[in-house]
Amino acid sequence: MAPNLLQPPRGTHDLIGEDFARHHAVIDTARRIARLYGFAEWATPIFEDTRVFGRTLGDTSDVVTKEMYTFEDRGGESVTLRPEGTAGICRALVSNGLTQGMLPRKVFYAGPMFRYERPQKGRQRQFHQIGMEVLGAAEPLSDAEVIACGWHIQRELGVDEGTVLEVNTLGDTPSREAYRAALVAYFSAHREALSPESQVRLDKNPMRILDSKEAQDRALVADAPTIFAHLTDEARAFFDAVCSYLTGFGVPFRINPRIVRGLDYYSHTAFEFVTERLGAQGTVMAGGRYNGLVESMGGPPTPAVGWAAGIERLAMLLEASGRTPAPPRAVAVIPVGDAAEGAALEVLQALRSAGIVAEIAYKGNLKRRMERANRIAARYAVILGDAELTEGRAQLRDLDAGTQESILLAELPARLS
Ligand code: ATP
Ligand code: MG
Repeated sequence: MAPNLLQPPRGTHDLIGEDFARHHAVIDTARRIARLYGFAEWATPIFEDTRVFGRTLGDTSDVVTKEMYTFEDRGGESVTLRPEGTAGICRALVSNGLTQGMLPRKVFYAGPMFRYERPQKGRQRQFHQIGMEVLGAAEPLSDAEVIACGWHIQRELGVDEGTVLEVNTLGDTPSREAYRAALVAYFSAHREALSPESQVRLDKNPMRILDSKEAQDRALVADAPTIFAHLTDEARAFFDAVCSYLTGFGVPFRINPRIVRGLDYYSHTAFEFVTERLGAQGTVMAGGRYNGLVESMGGPPTPAVGWAAGIERLAMLLEASGRTPAPPRAVAVIPVGDAAEGAALEVLQALRSAGIVAEIAYKGNLKRRMERANRIAARYAVILGDAELTEGRAQLRDLDAGTQESILLAELPARLS
C-alpha cells in the first residue's frame, strides 16, 4: 500500500457492491413495513445544537460522557453529530409545533449516526440506524405495536429466526425509586468488586450498572435484585398489558429483567432483539418508552415509545443467512454499424422506460461489446445490425442459454419485461 494512500477514517466504511445491496435492502424493507403500520418518514439534520443531546440523553450515559462528536463550528456554536435519532425527532416535533393536534405521530427514520467508539465487528464510529417513534401515546398498545413492527421488519428480511425479543419494564418513577434503593443497597455491599466505572455509576445512576459490559460487573449483576418486587400496581398492569398485546400481535418474546437501556430517558417498557450470531455485538434492535424526553426538549408532556436498529448489524444477519439481494441483470444493447449506433439509443430508452435495466458499452466492436456484456453479467444482448434494422428487427441473444433469435424491435420491451 502506498504510504500516502488515503483511507476512510477509523471506524467508518465505504458501502460498495453487496455491502450497499444489503444496506439498501434493510432500509427499503423497513420503509415498506413501517408504511403498513401507518408510520410517516421524517429526516432531521445529521448535526444538531449540542444541547439537543446533552440535555436529554442523560449526563451518565456512555454516549454523552464518552462517545459524542462535538465541535465548535466557524460561527462559534457548539454542534454535535447525532449519536442517535430519537432526540432529533423529538426536537423536530417541538420545533415544528407538532406537539398539539394530530397526536399520536408515528415517525420512521433512517440515516447515519456517529459515536466515538472503539471500532470492532459490528461497532463503527459512523454507523446507520433505522428507527421508529410513536409520539404522544401513553397506551401500552403503542409499545406493543412499535415492537411488532420492528419484529415484522426482521421477519420480512428473513433474519428473525436467530433473534430473540427480550422485554423488561423500568417501571414508573415510584417503582424506580424503590428499585434504585434496593440496587444501591446490593451493590454497595459489593462496592470493591465493581469496576471503577460502575463504582461511579453506583453514586450517579446505579441502574446503569446492569448494562455494564465489564466481566467483573457481569457476575455481580447476575445476582442483583430485579425491579419486579418493586413495581407499583400501575407499572405492573402496564407491563402485563404490553406483554398480552405482544401475544395478540403474534410476536414471540421472553422477559429479561436485566435489560436496561443505554440512555437515561427511558421508563416502563425496555426491550432488545438479541442474537448469538454476531458475537459480542449481539443487540440488533433496541428501544423503549421515554415519557419525559419531549418535555425536556421544551415541549409539553408527551409520552412516547420507539426503537432503533443498527443497519450494519441487520445487514450482517442478512449476509450470514445468505440473503444478499442480487442486483437485477441488465440487457446489453450492442450496435454493429453506423445506422445501428443511433438506433441503439432509442432501443435503450424504450427498454428503460419499460422498467428494464439496459446498458450500452461506450465503444468497441461486436466482440469487445460482447465481452463487456459478459463482464456485467448481462442476461440478454440485443444486437443491432444495419441491415436487419431496416426491417425493424434485431437479434436477441439469451446469454445464459446461448441461443439467439430474430425479434421485432417493437416487441422487445414486452418480451423482456
Ligand atoms: P451497544 O450496547 O451495542 O453499545 P447501545 O445500547 O449503545 O448498543 P443503542 O443506542 O440502543 O445501542 O442503539 C440501537 C442499535 O444501534 C444497537 O442495538 C445497534 O444495533 C446499533 N448500534 C449502536 N451503536 C453502534 C455502533 N457504534 N456501530 C454499529 N451499530 C451500532
Ligand atoms: Mg453503545
